[in-house]
Amino acid sequence: MRIEYDAVVVGSGPNGLAAAITLARAKCSVLVLEANAMIGGGARSAELTLPGFIHDLCSAVHPLAAGSPFLKTLPLERLGLTWIQPDIPLAHPLDDATAACLHRDIDLTAAQLNADGRAYRRLLEPLERNWENLSTEFLQPMLHLPRHPFALARFGIPAVCPATLLAKFLFKQHPARALFAGIAAHSFLPLEAPVSSAFALVLGMAGHAVGWPIPRGGSQAITNALADHLRELGGKVDTNHRVDNLDALPKSRAVLFDVSPCQFIRIAGNRLPKRYHERLQRFRHAPGIFKVDYALNSPVPWKAESCRRAGMSARSRVEKFPSARLCWWRSKVSLTKRAHRVVNIRCGRTAMSHSTARLTCRTASKRRLSGSPPVSAIVFSRDTA
Ligand SMILES: Cc1cc2nc3c(=O)[nH]c(=O)nc-3n(C[C@H](O)[C@H](O)[C@H](O)COP(=O)(O)OP(=O)(O)OC[C@H]3O[C@@H](n4cnc5c(N)ncnc54)[C@H](O)[C@@H]3O)c2cc1C
Repeated sequence: MRIEYDAVVVGSGPNGLAAAITLARAKCSVLVLEANAMIGGGARSAELTLPGFIHDLCSAVHPLAAGSPFLKTLPLERLGLTWIQPDIPLAHPLDDATAACLHRDIDLTAAQLNADGRAYRRLLEPLERNWENLSTEFLQPMLHLPRHPFALARFGIPAVCPATLLAKFLFKQHPARALFAGIAAHSFLPLEAPVSSAFALVLGMAGHAVGWPIPRGGSQAITNALADHLRELGGKVDTNHRVDNLDALPKSRAVLFDVSPCQFIRIAGNRLPKRYHERLQRFRHAPGIFKVDYALNSPVPWKAESCRRAGMSARSRVEKFPSARLCWWRSKVSLTKRAHRVVNIRCGRTAMSHSTARLTCRTASKRRLSGSPPVSAIVFSRDTA
């Protein structure tokens, strides 16, 4: 049997490309196979509405990419990736037409939270100071010997709490609780679920340490830079190449799968050890999400000025735990010289029916995005000019 590649990677999402680059840097010959016509998986962008209006298909805001110890070692800027840092990473619109904001500056964030400012600073400041150490702990496989156990313990104790519990315990007033919940809601876990605080803490400290930047031109810019770097290192990427079974793969020493457990079973099921196969079969996907993309002829008319300056606006309530949550996004992607505005509304963990979600979107947009949507909701918006 003639070995054609040292490694084949199935799937060209950001993780597949990162794995391929790691191998190529170690002088291995690598082939990435992608089922879609476009590479990138969840980090793709395309004209989904009108010509010239570029929308991200999934991921849009990238604190963890910007803070990733691995990505920092790659020459992605040289290959066309430009990070846009909005004035304010995140704003949480409040009912009185003001907003609670996650600023880059922790003092500024604490100052607007009035009585809760001290508690906010006590929680986030030590974590932000330790971002370099903590990010290397989070952004590697879960099971490992921690190199920074004390920093990790300081993070881990509040992180295991449900976001609702921690927010209510630490904060007395609505703005701080709402801001914390809005950040935690990015996990798409119910806010009353254990460990949902971890997401608020990681994304909160990332907001202060590295911001919540957006790639100019959309998330595809990250993918394209990764793929270009892989090619520079001698790797190959083949699109429109769906892998249906192991026998169809080119001969290689190793195969890496950047696919979901269910997809993996379909491809390799008959070759997997029984117990591993059973474990994969027990994997359950979270409830589905969907998003609605709009092309806009003007910016979203937020009442709160800070929402207009924020890369993203997220809305959620800790007091009333929604089983259904709704996200709003706004983005302005400048691909050519003209800046375009797009908005997408994303609904997640929809215990509500699609028709309720549609109604919610419609009602909320009639309210010109300025008042409270009729269900407890997360509202995201982003700006990528
Ligand atoms: C709506 C939404 C919004 C998100 N927003 C953000 C955000 O703002 N910021 C953020 O950091 N993250 C966000 N995420 C998460 C982010 O998109 C994922 O974490 C990321 O894409 C995971 O990358 P991956 O490489 O593991 O897998 P994926 O990106 O899923 O890539 C897997 C790839 O494998 C390919 N594939 C699957 N089966 C086969 C096969 N049989 N043969 C060949 N190829 C195959 C797929 O086509 C796909 O390209 C969001 C996710 C969603 C769904």
